[in-house]
Amino acid sequence: MNNCFFCGATENSLTEEHVWPKWVSKLLKGKYGSDHFVHVRSTGDSTTGLWKSPDLKVTTDEICKHCNNEWLSVLENDQVKPIATPLSLGHGGDIIKPSDQWILATWAYKMALLLEIAIPKQEQRITWTADERKQFCEMKVANEHVRVFIAKYEYGQHPTHAHQKLHTLTRHDDGVKFDLKIATMTAGCLAMQVIAVRSADTGTLLYATSELEVELLGEAKTKIAQVWPPTNKAVRWPDLQPMSQQDIEDWTDMWEKAQGLHRSDSNNGFAPSP
Ligand SMILES: [Zn+2]
Repeated sequence: MNNCFFCGATENSLTEEHVWPKWVSKLLKGKYGSDHFVHVRSTGDSTTGLWKSPDLKVTTDEICKHCNNEWLSVLENDQVKPIATPLSLGHGGDIIKPSDQWILATWAYKMALLLEIAIPKQEQRITWTADERKQFCEMKVANEHVRVFIAKYEYGQHPTHAHQKLHTLTRHDDGVKFDLKIATMTAGCLAMQVIAVRSADTGTLLYATSELEVELLGEAKTKIAQVWPPTNKAVRWPDLQPMSQQDIEDWTDMWEKAQGLHRSDSNNGFAPSP
């Protein structure tokens, strides 16, 4: 019996799954004046991995054949690719309609989950529970508790980027502790971020919207758009101000400054990025 990261115990064999799918690698190859993707992985302050490759290869081998070849393949190739391709290349059209936002949120959520296991086992810290992963496999949408944002990343910088952070925050008024998980990913000009808030005591996912009244700091107001939970409002892509590399890093960090909470601890994740 094998254990699939999504569907759990299975007779199916385990296969290699890419965090960024192969079509992203093909799309961005040779862009940004480089033939190579450079991957950097850091644990805390120390860089533990750095390699160059012509393909974007951040993978895990903990996904079963069924998940990989069936629903994940449909999600990637039939649903995400047509919507994310123009956005990644920086010539997205006019509006991103709610049904497309739904798909982008699903994609970002999938990557946020996979980022936790696309690193060596000894460095892994899995925060997504088996039930949450199985629910994703069954529902094929982002968990209702998380928030997902998209942004436009300034063209001509890193082809891809991923960063995840885990903070423990304490609410000032009653001392209740929350774990805040933030995953930020970019594919070409498309940037996405998934935020999950858990009770530090029970580990239960809480509504990121109600439990964490976040203050969108400064320029972020004009640079990010929420796509999950669904808003039923079209996002006007040309209206989003492009983010610089510094903005992307600040974006991951700004949630530490959430209103009514203060940061008490932080664990850096890893950053496989060019
Ligand atoms: Zn599976």
